[in-house]
Amino acid sequence: MLKTAGGLDRIKTESAFHVLARASQLEAEGRSVINLGIGQPDFRTPEHIVEASIKALRDGHHGYTPAAGILELREAVAEDLEKRFGQSVDPGCVMIVPGGKVTMFFAILMFGEAGAEIIYPNPGFPIYESAIAFSGADPVALPLLEENEFAFSADDVLSRVTPRTRLIILNSPANPTGGVTPRHEIDALVAGLDAHPQVAVMSDEIYSHLLYGGREHVSLLQYPQLRDRLILLDGWSKTYAMTGWRMGFGVWPSALVEKANRLAVNCHSCVNAAAQYAGIAALTGPQTAVAEMRAAFDTRRRFIFQEINKIPGLSCVEPAGAFYAFPNITGSGKRAKELEVELLEEAGVATVAGTSFGAHGEGFLRLSYANSLENIDKALQRIRHHLGA
Ligand code: PLP
Repeated sequence: MLKTAGGLDRIKTESAFHVLARASQLEAEGRSVINLGIGQPDFRTPEHIVEASIKALRDGHHGYTPAAGILELREAVAEDLEKRFGQSVDPGCVMIVPGGKVTMFFAILMFGEAGAEIIYPNPGFPIYESAIAFSGADPVALPLLEENEFAFSADDVLSRVTPRTRLIILNSPANPTGGVTPRHEIDALVAGLDAHPQVAVMSDEIYSHLLYGGREHVSLLQYPQLRDRLILLDGWSKTYAMTGWRMGFGVWPSALVEKANRLAVNCHSCVNAAAQYAGIAALTGPQTAVAEMRAAFDTRRRFIFQEINKIPGLSCVEPAGAFYAFPNITGSGKRAKELEVELLEEAGVATVAGTSFGAHGEGFLRLSYANSLENIDKALQRIRHHLGA
């Protein structure tokens, strides 16, 4: 009998990928499935970005790059952040990684071990809890509540800090809820963290371009007093419709850059060179496609929010960011997982149970509106019909 490491008994997975696999299987059997399950833009990567990577290959950029990424790309990231948030960023603190997930994994590995605690949003991106448990640290859930429109509050976070807390994970705009935390809560949180200088913060801002209704993104980068313990996570996946390219970046405190670099050298050496050239084109080229995608998501957001609330048994707070609606399903009398399975197997709609994002997601379902208006409309009709409404 093979004996694997203990951490592997604690590591979990991301159900959205299982739902996607089952949906594809059902489709292969000839069933019609509308996919509101997976969280990826349904747009193509803009053409000038694709062309830049083809050109890079033709120009002979096929070798290893520095582990942290090519300098031109790190400079482009730093300049873009400076332009957006008015804060100077040292390109030497930027690390290009294969997707947003890698910054998360590295940060959790860096701070997580037996005896440590890491605070994470719940419901939240499932990899937070999984990777924390894998590291041996205790995951401390920060419940996100419907009555707060799924924003976190400074008090809720600070009241969970103990002498064992090493890292706090924040995510706004949030997956799976679409919640956006207002600036005054972030101001209060940062002020409260003065009392806990040993605690690091990882701010997952992968949806930083996807806010609606006139909202502006508040980046944790805008708090210079936090810079020596802030890890910023962002990337190209959601902003530029590049989920399959595996392109993400982290901005690390200068004291941790070398450690992050070592993890990269031990893990993946560097990101695919041609993809890095695509990353430069994305940041330095026209941003019209980003604005167009955001506008399309916004139209769908308003539609899905309005229509879900017309379905008896479902109610939904207005999503403020990302591309997810997170309706409360308790009025349907069903548990989250039960409804997810029924909708996929019987109604032909892929969704993800709120419990896939943590125990505090019971009573909710995640619907991704990264799909056409026509498909969203059809999916909601199927859901309505399934619930007998
Ligand atoms: N963080 C959040 C909150 C996400 O929702 C996702 C992807 O769904 C990621 C990080 C990971 O992004 P990537 O696909 O770039 O690894």
